[in-house]
Amino acid sequence: MTEYKERFETLDTNVVHAGAPRPNIEGAVVTPVFQSANFLMADEATYDAVRYLRLSNSPSHLALHARLAAIESGEAALATASGMAAITTSILAFVGQGDHVLAQKTLYGGTQSFLDEDAPRMGIGYTAIDTADPEGPRSWEKALTPKTKLMMLETISNPLMEVGDLQAAVDFAREHGLVTVIDNTFATPVNFRPLEIGIDLVVHSATKYLNGHSDIVAGAVIGSEAHVHKVRHLLLHLGGSIDPHACFLLERGLKTLVLRVTRQNENAGRLAEFLAGRPEIRKVNYPGLPSDPGHAFARNLLSGFGGMLSFYAESAEIAEAFLGRVKIPLHAASLGGVETLVVRPSRSSHLGQTPEGRQRLGITDDLIRVSVGIENPDELIADFEQALAGGA
Ligand code: PLP
Repeated sequence: MTEYKERFETLDTNVVHAGAPRPNIEGAVVTPVFQSANFLMADEATYDAVRYLRLSNSPSHLALHARLAAIESGEAALATASGMAAITTSILAFVGQGDHVLAQKTLYGGTQSFLDEDAPRMGIGYTAIDTADPEGPRSWEKALTPKTKLMMLETISNPLMEVGDLQAAVDFAREHGLVTVIDNTFATPVNFRPLEIGIDLVVHSATKYLNGHSDIVAGAVIGSEAHVHKVRHLLLHLGGSIDPHACFLLERGLKTLVLRVTRQNENAGRLAEFLAGRPEIRKVNYPGLPSDPGHAFARNLLSGFGGMLSFYAESAEIAEAFLGRVKIPLHAASLGGVETLVVRPSRSSHLGQTPEGRQRLGITDDLIRVSVGIENPDELIADFEQALAGGA
């Protein structure tokens, strides 16, 4: 009987080895791709145990789940077909008709649109809360209703890189019996492991840093056995299961997570400092900058400030000209790969929102988001310098 139980002391070792099949399948060093939709019956006692790809229980899935659980310090994990499948299935596993959610005021555009457009059709309401509000629990209490069941958070918000008082939010949620779900995509477990501060469920767009090579779309949900069980049960019905080849690529990408993110933290820190000193730039959003409003929370919570930053150019024209002049970064949506990407959130992740909604959140046409890659930092900074120096 193959087991997927191995777990080691450190994240560095777990990203390479945790959950690998033992004994190795046919002696293979790497978990093979189990590209078979169905498997021979083996007297399974429950429906969940019947081996079928939608039920997410092939050896490709089991090895990946064990590794994902280990790297986020969870008991159990579930890989999904996309980050949005992870997020929506996790929310819907804990709220239903008539229920209410507290949601951090800036969330990834897809999560925001789901709460604004789809959740209400299912009778699910939400109220936005500011996790960085100095009033803290006193202001969040005003948003509570008797039907509030869940709090939806992001470690580092997209695209303004805000970091709130997550420990206070978790304590508040505990006190009021709310399930906490956090999107840890931007921080990654290299910089923050939310389960260790009492969050119930961590979700990821594994499309980003966990995979790291911009070649799959995938998601992950990690938490206690009981919480993940509820999400898995719903995923089997909603059908957002990941395919085995994507499992294989994600498991491969995970092996270099610590190396990549460590370098991305360093590169982003250097680039943020450089950009903060440029006359063409009005403001840099990066929690690693001491001047950043989220810096104090980030310093307490995170072990690194991440590879994502954004900045407001002095004008939308400067932003536009910059995008046309940079040579190393690619002008593309998404993030978390080894290559540096630049994009305007108003034209990508938040394009689905109304112009007024974007304006309210500060997502204007002069805002550029940078997903910093692993390139040589001096060469990268020199390229940003030439692209900005050209003006509008
Ligand atoms: N969460 C964050 C923070 C994201 O940036 C994204 C995608 O950009 C998602 C979730 C959605 O992930 P996916 O595109 O894998 O469904």
